[in-house]
Parts: sequence; C-alpha cells; structure tokens
Amino acid sequence: MQTIKGIPVSNGVVIGRVFLIEDDVSLRVPRRSIQSADAPAEVERFDFARLAAIEELNQLHKTAADEMGREAAKIFLFHIGAFNDPSILNPIRSMISDDLVSAEYASSAVLRKLAEKFAQHPDSTFQSKVDDLRDLASRLIRHLGGQKISTVSSADDQTVVVARDLTPSQTAAFDRSKIRAFVTDLGGKTSHTAIVASALGLPAVVGTRTLSREAREGQVIIVDGSKGVVILDPDDETLDKYLLRVEQVRQAKISLHELAGLPAATADGTEITLLGNIEFPEEIDLVLDDGGKGIGLYRTEFLYLTRTTMPTEEDHYDAYMQCVKRLDGLELTIRTIDLGADKYTQLQAENPERNPALGLRSIRYCLQNLDIFRVQLRAILRASAHGPIKIMFPLVTNISEFRTAKYFVKEEMEELDEKGIAYDRDIKIGMMVEVPAAALMANAFAREVDFFSVGTNDLVQYTLAVDRTNEQVASLYTPIHPAVLKLVRDVSRSAKRHSIPISCCGASAGEPEFAALLIGLGIRTLSVTASGIPLLKQAIRGLTVAHCERIVKKAISYDSESDAAGYVRDRLRKLVPEVFERRPLD
Ligand code: PEP
Ligand code: MG
Repeated sequence: MQTIKGIPVSNGVVIGRVFLIEDDVSLRVPRRSIQSADAPAEVERFDFARLAAIEELNQLHKTAADEMGREAAKIFLFHIGAFNDPSILNPIRSMISDDLVSAEYASSAVLRKLAEKFAQHPDSTFQSKVDDLRDLASRLIRHLGGQKISTVSSADDQTVVVARDLTPSQTAAFDRSKIRAFVTDLGGKTSHTAIVASALGLPAVVGTRTLSREAREGQVIIVDGSKGVVILDPDDETLDKYLLRVEQVRQAKISLHELAGLPAATADGTEITLLGNIEFPEEIDLVLDDGGKGIGLYRTEFLYLTRTTMPTEEDHYDAYMQCVKRLDGLELTIRTIDLGADKYTQLQAENPERNPALGLRSIRYCLQNLDIFRVQLRAILRASAHGPIKIMFPLVTNISEFRTAKYFVKEEMEELDEKGIAYDRDIKIGMMVEVPAAALMANAFAREVDFFSVGTNDLVQYTLAVDRTNEQVASLYTPIHPAVLKLVRDVSRSAKRHSIPISCCGASAGEPEFAALLIGLGIRTLSVTASGIPLLKQAIRGLTVAHCERIVKKAISYDSESDAAGYVRDRLRKLVPEVFERRPLD
C-alpha cells in the first residue's frame, strides 16, 4: 500500500482501477537486449517503422492542411523532417548495432537525450520542440508495435485516469460516462483538469508529482478528492474504511441535493443568485438539477479543444441553441473563446510562446484572429434571437480592447441586419475582471460595459504572480489574500456606483469561505460548477449579510494572508458548522 498526497481539486471519494495515460511513453521503454546476429534485422525493423510513421505523418499533414490551413499543418513537417534526419537516425541505428538493444529502446533513449538537450537550450525555439520529440518517440514505438499506448476508449467503468499531465483536449475528449476520477502529477487548483473534473462532479487530485511513475495499469486505487489523498494497492483495513466513506459521501450528496428546491437566500432574506459554469451544453442539466438558475459562464473554448478542426459558425450556433433550449428562458452568459495559456497546447501554436499566461490568449487572441472571432460573434447573435444571452469578453486589460471587441459585435449586427437575420438588439455585453489592471480601472470600464464578472482563477494568478497550473507554487495560490480582496472590493464598488450587475465566476465563488467574503463585498450573483451549488446554498442559508460584511471587513484589514484565511475559516466554522460537517470527508 502506498499513500501519496496531492492537491484536492474536486470533492468525492472513489475506489477504482488505474488507467495510465502514457503521455511520455517514450521515456518508459524497458531496455531489451538482442543477439548480435539479430542486429541487422532490428535496424531494418526500425527503418520499416520509421517509413510507416512518415507515411502516416504525410497523411496527417495533408488532412490538417485541408482542414486547418498550411500554417497550422506545419507542425507535421517538423516531424517528417526529423524522421529523415541522419543526425537523429544514425545514432539510433548505431545504438541498436553497437549496444545490442531493441529498436524501441534505442529510439526512446536517443530521442529522450535529444529532448533533454533541447529542454536546456537557451534558445526557446529548441525548448518548444521538446514535446515534439516525445511525440516522435511515441509514434515510432507505436509503429514498432513494442508498447501499448493507452487509449481512453478502452477505459471501463472503474477507470481512474492517472497521468503525468493531461492536455485540455485529452481531458475534454474522455468518455465521460466511464471515467470515475482523475489524478495528475502536475497541475494546480484551477488547472483545466480541475475545472473539467469538478464540472463533471468527478473526484480529482492533481500535483501528485510522481504518482504516474509509480502506478501500474489495473492497480486498485483510492482517490480522495476532498483531502487530496491517493492510495495505491490499499490493504483490507483501508479498503473497508473507504468503502464506508464512499457510502457516506453518497448519502451526504443525497441530503445536500434536497436543498435544490429551496431558495438561495441568506438567513436575513437577501436573495443570492446561483448560476452554473459549464464547458459543454449537456452540463446544463446538472446545473438545473442542482438548483442553478441559469449559466453565468459558458467556456466556449472547449468547442475548440474537443476537435481537431476549427468549429464553423454552424457548430457554434448548434452548441448555443442546445444551451438555449435546455435553459428554456433562463439566462446564458457566453464567454467568447479563452484560448491560450493553459487552454491551448503550445504544440498547436504557430509560434510557441515562452510565457503563454502573459501571451496571446483570450481576447488578445481573438482580436488578432478576427475571422475566428467574427464567426463566433455571428453565431452568438443569431442564437440570441431565441433566448436570453449575454456576451462576455475574457482577460480584458485595456479599455481599447473592450471597445474594439464591442465594435466587432456591432459590425456583425449590421451584417445580420443587411441579411434580415434576427438577433437580440439589446444584447448585454460585459467583461470578465480577471487582470489586476482591469480591477484597478473598474470605474472606467463600468462606464462602458453592461456587466462585470470577476474571474478569481486568473485574478489570483496575476495578482499574486502564481501560476495557477503549477503544483510547485500551489501553496502560494491563496484567494483569501488581502490584495485580492481589495481588488474585488474596488470592482464591486465601481459596479454599484455605475449601477451595473456584477457576479463572480471563479472557482473560489464555490468555496463557502470565499463566497461569504463576496457577499460581504456586495456581490449577489455567484456562478459555480454544478456540483458546488448545493453546498454553497447551504452556507448562504446559514449566514446573514451583516455576518459577511463584518468578516470581510476584518479579513481585508490583515497584513498576512494566512491570518486572513485562518480568521475566515474559523468564523465560518462557527457560523455554519453544518456546512463543514457535511462537507464529504473533511
Ligand atoms: C477565471 O479566471 O476565474 C475564470 C472563471 O476563467 P477560467 O478559469 O476559464 O480562466
Ligand atoms: Mg480566466
């Protein structure tokens, strides 16, 4: 039995079996020796696999060029070039003949060494090719037939996905009816794995550092997503304990679910609107089932992350219409695509960035890729004729970005007018406040936008200079930090002064402690993942606005973030102990 501690990012407890996603299959090939007489045949086997890989890549290149354009397809040319490059091929061939090892091992060892060299190279062009070298090794090994590469489709319903890291597209592409939990070595509290897992109501632990190297396929695994604990090969006593806990969690969920029909109002009768955050239209059913009153954040970039080709206007429109139909008159806030940073693998980028969190992401990406942006705006406007839709721009930092983005909405409106296509002429256009600069300039923005939604996931990252996806600095990622609270307070004051609606849609809004602070700061709309709604409602019903105002006033006055967080935690545990008692397995 082995117990590993990681970062808890999505509640719940699961007992299942390990399903390894081997993203770095190239690094795991065992050293297999061969006889010297077999060496020429082994080299031939290598070349045969290499040619098959090239053929496959040529095909992939052609399809990608047709569907995504020549620039995007260029990535395959690098791979084809590498498979023809004597400086890569000859060391592999020599290793097979001189060291008498299998073609799989030689390919993996040579490419791994090269990847290490590239990773340490001062020039970022080399660094950005490290993942490509891994990809090359995986492809070669697959063609050599020497190593199984896990595919999610072969998962059964006991599946606990264990991986070093998951790309957004991997996470989004899982057969969601089969996966029971996620565990990754990398990642922080608001990384995409965390977002998707909690959206699906699946337990998840990230930042386990070495687990994927230690776990074996099919091994029994316990994932405690509430405590961030992962246990491999549990002994009988531990297994019995957790079987009981699984049942307790199930019961706790059922009793929390009973709250779904009750109003979300504080104990003194102030109504709080609870909305859902979604990545896929189907999640709306979960939100409504858990008592959500609409969607405060639809992360539309997942439309891109789940496919290899660019979504068309009709793809967008279909997705939005699915939402509108499911919501049946309830509000839907569509955030324009937030691609970039952790939601876009640098492999796909034409020019991989050195510092993508500060790079071409979100609204910046859209304003430099107007064809993509306009397609989405057109689809949103068309869908707005059928239900209450709002448009929200992410990562707005400068007022000119908001104005320009809004200008394109107006242009698309004019085009629709010319064609006689209906849309909502009064559609509300707002922005996320998730960059400190925007929070500090909230007054200026408030004169031009229809609403604010505070995105604490990024606001915390950018205010505290802590990468939200990096497990090594996860302990510094603290939303209850006086600096963050001061920014949110200023945004809320500006919204009030200019009479515009304000909500919060960051993951912290779903934490009872942080939600109390938001309510204390005057925010009355919280948008959270479906599975977080019942617990949040329970907390809200036990608090008064006066409690929340007092708590935030004091929290904001601390110099130290840990004192502030400790104080808030203590107050909440005293005021609404039932929330913490019921919180599964705390
Ligand atoms: C945020 O940054 O708080 C947010 C809700 O957006 P995302 O997590 O998609 O970046
Ligand atoms: Mg964000």
